[in-house]
Amino acid sequence: MNVIIALFIGIRSLDLTTMRIRTFLTLIISITLFIGCSSGSTEHTYLVIKGATVFDGNGGQPIENSEILIRDNAIDCIGEAGDCSVTMGTEVVDAAGKFITPGLIDAHMHFFQTGFFDSRPDAMDLNETYPFTEIAAYQERNPERYYDTYLCSGVTGVYDVGGMSWSVALQEQAEENPKAPHVAAAGPLLTPVPGAPFDLPSDRVLVQLDSEETGVKMVQYMSALGSTGVKFWMIRADDEDYMSRVRAAADEIEKHDNQMIVHATTLEQAKAAVKSGAKLLVHSVQDRLIDEEFINLMKEQGTIYNPTLIVGAGYTVAFRGAADIAPIPITDPNGCVDQRTRELITTASQFKDHPRMSEAFKDRLQAFDPDTGMSSDVMLQNLKRLYEAGIPIVVGTDAGNPGTLHGISIYDEMEMMQEAGIDPNDLIVMATKNGAMAMRREDDFGTLEKDKLANLIILESNPAEDISNMRSLSHVMIKGKLMDVTTVQRH
Ligand SMILES: [Zn+2]
Repeated sequence: MNVIIALFIGIRSLDLTTMRIRTFLTLIISITLFIGCSSGSTEHTYLVIKGATVFDGNGGQPIENSEILIRDNAIDCIGEAGDCSVTMGTEVVDAAGKFITPGLIDAHMHFFQTGFFDSRPDAMDLNETYPFTEIAAYQERNPERYYDTYLCSGVTGVYDVGGMSWSVALQEQAEENPKAPHVAAAGPLLTPVPGAPFDLPSDRVLVQLDSEETGVKMVQYMSALGSTGVKFWMIRADDEDYMSRVRAAADEIEKHDNQMIVHATTLEQAKAAVKSGAKLLVHSVQDRLIDEEFINLMKEQGTIYNPTLIVGAGYTVAFRGAADIAPIPITDPNGCVDQRTRELITTASQFKDHPRMSEAFKDRLQAFDPDTGMSSDVMLQNLKRLYEAGIPIVVGTDAGNPGTLHGISIYDEMEMMQEAGIDPNDLIVMATKNGAMAMRREDDFGTLEKDKLANLIILESNPAEDISNMRSLSHVMIKGKLMDVTTVQRH
């Protein structure tokens, strides 16, 4: 505002006197400084986006011919044309005929993983070509290329639900970076197994829950670090000893007002997880159709469900790439994927003679049909049942796993969720508001409302007609900064 006031005063002064330009500028600067000092505020920037059809993330009818006024990094006003008082000097973006939703949230990803097997030596050991110690260090030091990938894909918030301790530090780092999505991160996972090849002597992804004390200490440490959630990588529902350790850790999670995340793929595990207090279930129930008891448990606990429909097939797709059966597909018209990832993916077939590629394994890979094999019927049916029961559902890709690339995978995941029978209008809510809720940031973003952070995307086509229209995005706004998506990726 200061500049605008200063200009008005300046122009009036210019009319009254015939000051030389230099004196005029000096006057403006001094008035600005004076007003700035006296009010104690800094200069604000204003931008208004006019004319688009807006889905605010709460569901329901969109606002047609809308007006969104953004002050600095937040929404100052949102409504129909003429609802917001737009002052002189406000930058105007004409978005007539376009569609706007809140920025997307990928509620399940992993910064330590690259999208290929170099970060998953347990699935295929590429240490000879890509030493895992170097990959792990690179992932820690270079999250920015993924920040760009996500923003370019319209994703303005990500939830890293399992990784090394350093992932928790990304929360603050990304928050302070004007060109990064918001990050929530859980850090290392509690698990019944003794560890994995992706654990380093100095930093682990998996921590074996070998006693109640281990679980309690881990929860205390992660909570003190500021982790968003503590994740259990599988639980043993039929092992009473193990479940008592899970319960001890769960109690500690509640004490610290943290949240319990559980990787559960069987109905038995999923029920035990929800009974233990899980707030977020990741991966679908895959072994059988869910029942009323499960739905009621989810309702009682207010548990959020993240189906991750495509990541399983992603492994097969990546193995097929490595076996030189079919290239790993990258659908990326806006150039979102960073150079390093692109090279990793396009050179996958260099591993076609890797010892992992036995003839029997290759036969199985050959038999996979990417048109029909991307998700299982049970997963899709369970998702539909939970959706119809009104259970909160989020979109989470599990990106970083082999074959599930950061950023661009979100469209495949949403399209598969639509195929399960979810109305695209509801999918918008799942991909925005519900994701923010899982990240525990629903007060800050996830919907387009006054005083929330200005994170949004501009689309050419209507996402409520078909969720694949999310692919038509042209611009992303993060923390009030509007960018053409084709210019976002710098790496
Ligand atoms: Zn995961």
